[in-house]
Amino acid sequence: MGYLVLARKYRPQTFEDVVGQAHVTRTLANAIRAGRLAHAILFCGPRGTGKTTTARILAKAANCAAGPTDIPCNACGSCCDITAGTAADVHEIDGASNNGVDHIRDLRDHVRYMPVAGRYKIYIIDEVHMLSTAAFNALLKTLEEPPAHVLFFLATTEPRKLPVTILSRCQRHDLRRVSTRDLVHHFQRLCAAEGVCLPAAGIHAIAREAAGSVRDGLSLLDQVIGAMAGNAGPGSSPPEITHQEILDLLGVAGREAVAALATAVLTSDAPAALSLIDRFYTGGMDLKTIYSDLVTHLRNLLVLASTGGPGQLVDASPEEQEEMMRQAGTVSISDLMQLLDILLKEEQTLGTASRPRIAMELILLRLFQIRPTLPMEDLIRGMENLAAGLPVPPRRPESRRVHPETPAALPLASPDPGMEIREPKAAAPAPPPSPPVSPMPAPKPAASSAAGAGGTPDVIWRAVAQEISREIPPLAPFLTATRFVGREGNALHLECGNGVFGAKRLEKHRAAIEAAAARRFGEAVVIRPAPGPEAAHGGPSPGQRKAALRQEAVNHPVVQAAMEIFQGRILRVDPLDPGPASPGGTIKTQS
Ligand SMILES: [Zn+2]
Repeated sequence: MGYLVLARKYRPQTFEDVVGQAHVTRTLANAIRAGRLAHAILFCGPRGTGKTTTARILAKAANCAAGPTDIPCNACGSCCDITAGTAADVHEIDGASNNGVDHIRDLRDHVRYMPVAGRYKIYIIDEVHMLSTAAFNALLKTLEEPPAHVLFFLATTEPRKLPVTILSRCQRHDLRRVSTRDLVHHFQRLCAAEGVCLPAAGIHAIAREAAGSVRDGLSLLDQVIGAMAGNAGPGSSPPEITHQEILDLLGVAGREAVAALATAVLTSDAPAALSLIDRFYTGGMDLKTIYSDLVTHLRNLLVLASTGGPGQLVDASPEEQEEMMRQAGTVSISDLMQLLDILLKEEQTLGTASRPRIAMELILLRLFQIRPTLPMEDLIRGMENLAAGLPVPPRRPESRRVHPETPAALPLASPDPGMEIREPKAAAPAPPPSPPVSPMPAPKPAASSAAGAGGTPDVIWRAVAQEISREIPPLAPFLTATRFVGREGNALHLECGNGVFGAKRLEKHRAAIEAAAARRFGEAVVIRPAPGPEAAHGGPSPGQRKAALRQEAVNHPVVQAAMEIFQGRILRVDPLDPGPASPGGTIKTQS
């Protein structure tokens, strides 16, 4: 006897055998038991989910010598003929190739005659949506007044293409994609029956690749078992196959490789991402599939992070889900949503790209340019602290960094020789530090804060200026522009670079400046600010004043804190009252 493909060898012969469609088979079995079988039944569902298989079992159930019964005997002549496809009363019509009106007219003529041997004359029309409009109309006539001895079982993958008039005359049953879990169990049973041993992760990979279709999964399983036969070594040792060999046969990347790519994305690790893409590409894998796997993986992380633990919403084994949980713990939900959002938007770019490799590299590199969002709760906490006068919490690190102590891309089931997993980088490259906003030199710790510290009056004045700049940041630009001219008794003569305006700013904070100066000089002093040379022709120009105002606003602690919280930059400074002494104003920032 020749080799029989698994899909035929293990075709379900009873309702119980049908995988993952209990909601349909139970209803049909109940209908048969109750003697209330509809005359026209429509099976809808994705390919390979068991539409025609269920229709054939239903035909057996209706025509079984021991029936009608919900458990066909599979031993009587009628059952055996249906299994063999030779039953005189069961007509299988392929709607795709017999879609003309003539075929349906023939059918209509035949419908009148009584069944040859069985109870019912049964028509199974597969791919019924392929019928022409004229054929549909001809069929409709028969469906409207079907003879009592006729049953119509229609099957389609696209019920939306059926005329409403047909739909309304059929009892509809929707078959679902079979869950990966059900497929895995089914394939494990078949492997045991066939006496072959596949690695569990390999069976999972086949089930996932089948995408809910039993038939597709069985074809893949056939392929794998065929390859194993070729692997059979000398002697009587049973043939073996590794997980990686199965992945290679299926032409898919393993979960580990996709997890590694996800790690590279989460850590903004461009070298790792590019080398993985290179490996996928040179390995002959379809980059669009890899991309879709990456999106699915990030979606799984998001689901796990949102639901708080492994569950049925994620299509992966419990061990794989544990690994995913660990990876999900290294990134915030808002970052995951942002990443997914961008990847989904870019999916079309990749789909239409003539050079998918370059397109995918570009998409990921662009992704790395985008800084992670600041969670809203952080923003609110920052604003509240600011309002309450508390220190603003420091901002989180720049990149979506996976904690280095967390091995995010561990091999899941078996060591993977073909796919070397990169350890996550210890740290993402830090961005160049932004230039300080204040033109002041960075404050150095004072050599000694004791009163009467040594140094020339000029040096001591610089220390005073630095101290005041830290205490009253808005004054910093004026102090920077101020030159110490000389000391006369306890009077410090200062020349203000910002002219009259600068001198007035210093006057306004005279008390604080003099107090600090007294501490530094070790005795009470008074300051004598005077406009510098620029003031010679009537004060600072409007441009200078605007620049000074802007600097004052930028240095204001509230503005600084707001920029820190929102990670913004100043777009515009609007004085409230455009006068030289106006301290107020509005600041427009962009984050
Ligand atoms: Zn039977």
